Amino acid sequence: MKKRIYICNTGGTIGMQAGAGGYQTCQGFLESQMRDIPEITHPSMPDYELNEYDPLLDSANMRPANWLGIARDISSRYSEFDGFVVIHGTDTMAYTASALAFLIQGLGKPVVLTGSQIPLCEIRNDARENLITSMLIAANSRVPEVTICFGGYLLRGCRSRKVTASGFDAFQSPNLSPLGTIGTEINIRTERVLSASGKSFGLMFERDRCPQVAAFRLFPGMDHEILDNLFRPPLKGIVIEAFGVGNAPSEDPKFLQVIRSATDRGVVVVVCSQCTQGVVDLKGYASGQALEKAGAISGMDMTAEAALAKLYCLLNCELERKELESMMQADLAGELTMPGEVRASAQSG
Ligand code: ASP
Repeated sequence: MKKRIYICNTGGTIGMQAGAGGYQTCQGFLESQMRDIPEITHPSMPDYELNEYDPLLDSANMRPANWLGIARDISSRYSEFDGFVVIHGTDTMAYTASALAFLIQGLGKPVVLTGSQIPLCEIRNDARENLITSMLIAANSRVPEVTICFGGYLLRGCRSRKVTASGFDAFQSPNLSPLGTIGTEINIRTERVLSASGKSFGLMFERDRCPQVAAFRLFPGMDHEILDNLFRPPLKGIVIEAFGVGNAPSEDPKFLQVIRSATDRGVVVVVCSQCTQGVVDLKGYASGQALEKAGAISGMDMTAEAALAKLYCLLNCELERKELESMMQADLAGELTMPGEVRASAQSG
């Protein structure tokens, strides 16, 4: 039987048109172009139903409510299709991919996010290749994960980051090798793919309580009052991108006091690294230990994107603080490496 996939078109460059104000989303444009590409209707391609969101978004405008909207859309059509493609802008694709990985539980089918650096309407573009390959992977692969298919790689969504604003290989998963490489063949490394979790299918939570979360990148000479302002209610959780293995200005008592009083008020403070690759170790240096003593927890080898999306999702689950912090440091969707676990970590085949 011919495979069937469901395509959620949320927007992004792939379907944009050049206008007076630069590239802009355009309702109906991508769908009409897809109808004109003979390869997309070739017998070896899956049948597809395309749901165009209204409005289509430049992904810089995506909000957590949009993450939940996509998760609800996929979940409501889940039993009808063999796989799912989410067309999305590249700018915040890593956040959405991470959020979907946490939101959709018990996934047994592929959910593939893709987009492009150049719109499909341009003569030279990466859109056609990314779209066709994503459709094939969604229909035919046994990858029951939320992935990003882009520029020759299939990556775990909650490990991915946008790493170039102009190259076609826009995404990497710096702490985990690609799940697949796309060359003359689509080569999926099945040993790296998560197996279907066995959990029953469903969303992590139904009602969005809109918890306020933030991300903040430390910088040398930062005045503690900047953080103090950020930590004001209604903030519930924050990802701090610290230096190296998770170090912060430990010789600034006011800075540490700001962290301490925030954690005492119940704000969850998660430390990730500004480095692209590696693991946070708050015990490595005195400057990291000071953060831990002030009540911060390690984000281990999570990307800041995954940590922010995870924090948002867990805060929506109304957990006890201790449980939330322990789930933050547990592997829920392949987003982090548990101590002692071996991971393949180079961006290579
Ligand atoms: N600004 C665009 C977006 O994220 C960029 C892209 O799609 O490549 O929607």
